Amino acid sequence: MHLNLPINRDKKSGTLYVVSTPIGNLEDITLRAIKTLKMVNLIAAENPTHTKKLCSHYEIGTRLTSYNQHNHKTSWPGLIERLNRGENIALVTCAGTPGISDPGALLIKMASENGICVTPVPGACAAIAALSVCGLKMDNFLFAGFLSNKSGKRKKELQELAAEEGTIIFYEAPHRIIQFLEQLYEAFGNRGIAVIRELTKVHEEVMRGHVKEILTIISQREPRGEYVIITEGSEKSKENETIPEKLEETIKNMLIDNISIKDIADSVAKNHNIRFRSAYREVLDLKRKMEEL
Ligand code: SAM
Repeated sequence: MHLNLPINRDKKSGTLYVVSTPIGNLEDITLRAIKTLKMVNLIAAENPTHTKKLCSHYEIGTRLTSYNQHNHKTSWPGLIERLNRGENIALVTCAGTPGISDPGALLIKMASENGICVTPVPGACAAIAALSVCGLKMDNFLFAGFLSNKSGKRKKELQELAAEEGTIIFYEAPHRIIQFLEQLYEAFGNRGIAVIRELTKVHEEVMRGHVKEILTIISQREPRGEYVIITEGSEKSKENETIPEKLEETIKNMLIDNISIKDIADSVAKNHNIRFRSAYREVLDLKRKMEEL
């Protein structure tokens, strides 16, 4: 087990403030965040040009430096050195909470390991804002963030998450949202979801429903903006669900007609409120039994 060093107050090192900034609406910033950004010696920003707009809006004159996913491995030592000298630094990203699908984790870890005080200045986070309006269970949730951008790997990641019982929060880029929902349907079945777009911005939208219907809506227009997808957790009781016996004959006939297992499972899942995964497994079993005869 790794124990962090206790904060050495005698060292007179500075503090690393982990500051949340707005995810769209510039007014979603706390009074303490503005005060902190004005008071620190330096702001380590994911994109200083972007953060400059926030700073000029709130008349924050503090100097900015860049800390992002491309330079974080080389720039953290310089920041730790400054903190060790007694300077205070605020860490911010382009939007929301640093470290949440954003740079920050390495600097925070190194500061903690060096006995530097690391303190949060909490505020906006797209995952939590989306969760708060999704209409699904909120008492037990898992933040999955961005899955892999490689389709095969993403499919595997979704299959691994399918049995998770808590509500799951995903981030996804607009150009991948349709493929993401298609893969979600294959792995999770027609589960309840909320697709939340452009929170706190002009085109804010919350779509609640089931994967298939939302997929149909989104497929009819060009997906734009920033998306959070939230799915219901897996219901244990549904895990062992089986296809009603009376359907078996129909399915056998569909198999004889050479309809694909995927298409049959899709239709069974949709029309009988069974998970696609379970339907697929059952249809496959039936096919194997037929082949054994
Ligand atoms: N650190 C940020 C946070 O605390 O939420 C997340 C940064 S991550 C690079 C960007 C992703 O967050 C977007 O692709 C989208 O999935 C989500 N996101 C950020 N702002 C959003 C907004 N206003 N509405 C919906 N999703 C948003």
